[in-house]
Amino acid sequence: MDIERLRADTPGVGHVIHFNNAGAALMPRPVIEAVTDHLHREARFGGYEAAGQQAQALEDVYTAIGRLINAQPAEIAVIENATRAWDMAFYSLPLRPGDVVLTSTTEYAGNYIPYLQLQRQRGIELRIIPNDEHGQVCLAALKTLLDDERVALVSLPVIATNGGPVQPIEQIGALTRAAGKLFLLDACQGVGQMPLDVQKIGCHMLAATSRKYLRGPRGMGFLYVEQSLCQTLEPAFLDLHAASLLTAQTFAIRDDARRFENWECNVAAKLGLGAAVAYALTQGIEPMWLRIQGLASHLREQLAAVLGVTVQDRGALRSGIVTFTHRTTSATQLQQWLAGQARPINVSTSRVGSTLLDMQQRDLPEISRASLHAYNTHAEIEALVQALHRLPGG
Ligand SMILES: *Cc1c(COP(=O)(O)O)cnc(C)c1O
Repeated sequence: MDIERLRADTPGVGHVIHFNNAGAALMPRPVIEAVTDHLHREARFGGYEAAGQQAQALEDVYTAIGRLINAQPAEIAVIENATRAWDMAFYSLPLRPGDVVLTSTTEYAGNYIPYLQLQRQRGIELRIIPNDEHGQVCLAALKTLLDDERVALVSLPVIATNGGPVQPIEQIGALTRAAGKLFLLDACQGVGQMPLDVQKIGCHMLAATSRKYLRGPRGMGFLYVEQSLCQTLEPAFLDLHAASLLTAQTFAIRDDARRFENWECNVAAKLGLGAAVAYALTQGIEPMWLRIQGLASHLREQLAAVLGVTVQDRGALRSGIVTFTHRTTSATQLQQWLAGQARPINVSTSRVGSTLLDMQQRDLPEISRASLHAYNTHAEIEALVQALHRLPGG
């Protein structure tokens, strides 16, 4: 990979050492331009007229996302964030009393709360798939759980928001398909970081966000729904974009995945998402994934040598999200200390509330999260490690 080029494309690297790519990555120039150019067009020509001029570019967003995850453009809906994209799929599933949903200990609270809501409202049952010795979904346990005919859905994140294992999603998908059950994948931390191919994974639905490893603008995301399933899923919400009013008594829902969208959206951000996907495809997802894994394992080795620091990551396969704790300094204080360096170092803090089961199981109230992207460097990692060495009382 041409790292110099990657950094030259990223104005933010001149100001901060950015290790919060799992929160929101630094946007590359083509994304910034796609968004700002469109805002200028809206100011100049009017919002509807500007969107009309960009009609083809807006269609290309679906094609690009389709290429990224190996799906058809008609299987993609562009939705304002991953949570809403996920919700549109989840709340459309015809789950009935007694239906079982299987998830992992690494599930994101934003998805877990809807499970509990449907448990209360519709009487579904939630079961947690046990982990294996690596802290990831135990495939043998999943296979046994899938024997229960009441299982309707397997739903989990490929990578948790607080790091940890890259789940064996292709094996999970194969088992789930073989059992004839639906698989909803939360790909928020995977998209833009690692290769994701919905055909290989065998997921029926996938939700993702724009601002994380994809490096797109905030307030954007997308949903994939497999063509054959799409037409059988009735969205929980409909509007005049998802459906059309035929007579005073009848309406028809669109055939494609855009039935999960709604009419009004941030057009500039949608174009920005398209530019981010195109940029990622140009860099090559495979080389980026190798680079990210290399940087992350280097950081883990360096952190392990800092007195008082414990690396908290688990998993047979690990991602660019590196998590750690310090013996005497809280993650919140660490984040502040690093942000206050002459050249600010951005890390974030993952708290128990975002991945409750996992954090409680490991007895961790909070952890520091340094999430690396391909544009990060060994020199930046060194700066982080040195700043930790200088920690007062560390
Ligand atoms: C960030 C994240 C989400 C939520 O994405 P939004 O775009 O903020 O809605 C969901 N799941 C995981 C694993 C995440 O990391």
